[in-house]
Amino acid sequence: MINGNREFELLKKIGFIRTSGSAEELKAAQILLDEIKEIGLEGKLDAFPVRNDIVEEAVLEVVEPYQKRYRVTGFTCSGNLEETVAEFKYVEDLNDIDLHDVKGKVILMNTRPGIKNFEKIVKSGALAFVTFQGTIKDSLEESDLEERKLRESVKKYGCLPGFNILARDAQEMVLKKAGNVKVKLIQTEKEWTSHNVMVSILGSEYPDEEINFCGHYDSVPFSTGVYDNGAGSVIIMEILRHFKENPPKRTMNFLWFGSEEVGLEGSKYYIQKYADTLDRSILTINVDVAGCVLGRDLAMVTSDESLCHYIEHLAKEINFSMNVKQQVYSSDSTPFANAGVPAVSFARFGTEGGAFIHCRYDLIDWLSSDSLAHTTEFVLVFADRIDKAKINPIVRKMPENMVKDIHQYLDIKTEEK
Ligand SMILES: [Zn+2]
Repeated sequence: MINGNREFELLKKIGFIRTSGSAEELKAAQILLDEIKEIGLEGKLDAFPVRNDIVEEAVLEVVEPYQKRYRVTGFTCSGNLEETVAEFKYVEDLNDIDLHDVKGKVILMNTRPGIKNFEKIVKSGALAFVTFQGTIKDSLEESDLEERKLRESVKKYGCLPGFNILARDAQEMVLKKAGNVKVKLIQTEKEWTSHNVMVSILGSEYPDEEINFCGHYDSVPFSTGVYDNGAGSVIIMEILRHFKENPPKRTMNFLWFGSEEVGLEGSKYYIQKYADTLDRSILTINVDVAGCVLGRDLAMVTSDESLCHYIEHLAKEINFSMNVKQQVYSSDSTPFANAGVPAVSFARFGTEGGAFIHCRYDLIDWLSSDSLAHTTEFVLVFADRIDKAKINPIVRKMPENMVKDIHQYLDIKTEEK
């Protein structure tokens, strides 16, 4: 029996900041391991390296036409920059017009450096980039400024030093027409250890067919990460408990990934390490964000369209309000799909104003045991039906539209035929 209160209690236990490779992330992994043990199984930790440099000094100071030193953090892993005075430019959309005259300048952007836009920024010849965080209506007391990480995946076209400032300061710099800025970034290389938590139950009838359940348990800085994604972590745990008590016919792997928030590093590591076992995986079920009181449930299917119809039909049959889409989700399901494993991500998305992500307002106050149990119920019914089927009902082949979207998301150049 699904028990939302039990899920909620576990969620409270892991509801602290637990960023990639930190001691707190490991502490959360230990709590998950303890829970697995309490269920009567032996889980294990799988360690992997994550690079995250230590910023020694970050400076961003307007020197002309006014003088002001701003509160700033550096992007880790974005390299060093000796103290330099350079022109400042606000680039709104990173299009050709924005970027045609930014050589040697410090550019303030509306977005984060992503896989699609970082190549353009590097090629533009800009000296450094600046992102901003929070909203202009945040008071100073409620403004958090995180040290962001320049992801490994965006750096294949080169590297550029980056800074992060508050939204209210970004607005001030644009409003007061900041002209020349003094910038400096000094950091030292450092490698950390992150962990995936894993446990498996061997199938009684079809042990060679495997179903994976996963969710990431790390958080971003300044966030207790209960909605994103302590919730998915405890939902997977409740499903593990069910199948321990009701042994499955197919082998089930339960995976809690670390370092998702810095670029899906835990799941990418898993896919690489266990590559030669993945042809046994018939399906990966990922849960990322859930538990909010005000929200709606979604299934994002990265697989053959028939699985969308299957889930839609099941939702109607059991009277569950579920929105089903065939799409790539920015989460740990995507490395599986890229490896050819049909994947579905379940999520309960908060209504705007009803839940908050990647900030200090991702709080247990907006979540409930009922909402956790609600989403868990559907995931369990779905998984149980797949498990009980006499033949594997999931089409293995990844359709072309999904391959295209996966490649676009991961920036894999599709070979010309
Ligand atoms: Zn997440």
